[in-house]
Amino acid sequence: MTTACVSIWDAVQNHIVKKIGMKRHNLWMKHTVLKSIDDTTALIGVPNLFIQAWLEKKFRDDLRDSLKQVVGKDLAVKFVVDGALFRQMRELQDREGVTTLISRPKAPLLAESCALNPRYTFKRFIVGPSNQFACEMALKLAQSKSRDLNPLYIYGSIGLGKTHLLHAFVAEYKRLHPDEVVTYVTCEHFVNQFVTAVQTGRTEGFRSNYRSTDVLVVDDIQWLSGKKASQQEFLHTFNALTSRDRLIVAAGDPYPRNISGAADALVDRLASGITARIDPPDYATRLAIVHARAAELKRPVPEGVARLLAERFASNVRELEGGLLKILAFHSLLDKPLNEHMAADILRTERTPAAAGRTSLENIVRTVAAHYNLTAEEIKSNRKTRSLCLPRHVAMHLAKTCTRYSLKEIGAHFGGRSHASVLQASRAIEGKSSADPSLAEALRTLKGSLGLVANREARDLRPAAAIT
Ligand code: ADP
Ligand code: MG
Repeated sequence: MTTACVSIWDAVQNHIVKKIGMKRHNLWMKHTVLKSIDDTTALIGVPNLFIQAWLEKKFRDDLRDSLKQVVGKDLAVKFVVDGALFRQMRELQDREGVTTLISRPKAPLLAESCALNPRYTFKRFIVGPSNQFACEMALKLAQSKSRDLNPLYIYGSIGLGKTHLLHAFVAEYKRLHPDEVVTYVTCEHFVNQFVTAVQTGRTEGFRSNYRSTDVLVVDDIQWLSGKKASQQEFLHTFNALTSRDRLIVAAGDPYPRNISGAADALVDRLASGITARIDPPDYATRLAIVHARAAELKRPVPEGVARLLAERFASNVRELEGGLLKILAFHSLLDKPLNEHMAADILRTERTPAAAGRTSLENIVRTVAAHYNLTAEEIKSNRKTRSLCLPRHVAMHLAKTCTRYSLKEIGAHFGGRSHASVLQASRAIEGKSSADPSLAEALRTLKGSLGLVANREARDLRPAAAIT
């Protein structure tokens, strides 16, 4: 920063203070600098992305105005995150013991966090022997912030409530500690943000953002498998947070040791606090889940129907819920009271592994959708965003290689695609999975969850080894 910049910025700040008041200025602009200025643009350095977003949204016009008053020209205002400013802000706060809104916004860093499902609360989580420990640990950590429970890693097969518990933890934590910053992200989001930050030269901003959170909650940690640079970055974030006693909660399908292509350090860190496994729920818990969900939908079901569902869907709560929704949807078209015979008939229309000796296409769609945190409709849609294409191709690939449906039938199920598109999608996944261990792992996990064995790959007979 040149001396000219310093004096221009001093003058601009004086101006701004008059406009917005000292309090707001101190809150948002105390740690900013004018990094450069030319005929068209003023580049302003800020300590983190949160402040940048706030300045852009609330104060861009004021800044432009004040700059115009000082330099006599209408300039475009741009921002850049500057790691040195972040450190300077932190040091000052540590020294003064200041807890300002700048580092403790009441709201989470929304731009950086993923959305929470408001239905995923502790109240709605049915506890049984299979998930009791995980649930208790998550609740206890939210209530006590006990460092003994830090980090908490929840793991288990797909559809057993890991994401539900993470969202419940975040909601409860925010309720109990409203002044703290809680960042919830899927690991995929973390990785994508990191890659973008590297590509755009904004790693400092990325880092300062993640390292200034009080609690970091990361879902689907297996997404890191085989991604060396992202793992390294996650480890640095992890270390930076835990060394300052910040909390970390993560969830993933495999036990840390079984995350394929995970660095030893990552495995050690994830296993260094509490690891809590969720198993498939027992019969009584499944029954309770069906009744609770039906009551919530204001469509209570007879005991026989609940039993039928609990017997039929033993290994995945998402599928259990899916079975209930299917019965309720069909039943609403009929003008007869619901009973277990009718429910069995409705379920028979779906080719479940037990019923037809092969997995239904809809089962594959739903399981893949759940794995990638999408809806079945998104998988089957025509939208071509990258985050949808890969899961869609994975689903088509599983359908092609692990079921006896024809390419035409598969294409028809996936939103009316041609048999050539199915073939192309499947080949693309075959190619990618041999070069991408995380994709290979995802395929294995999905096949395990679906109880699938590839038609042509006898060597793939091993179960989803990662799930312990
Ligand atoms: P995972 O992240 O382990 O794949 P999710 O958290 O997405 O699983 O859970 C799948 C579905 O099952 C969600 O709709 C969730 O609300 C529901 N679910 C799972 N376990 C329970 C439970 N114990 N009580 C109530 N609902 C549950
Ligand atoms: Mg999940």
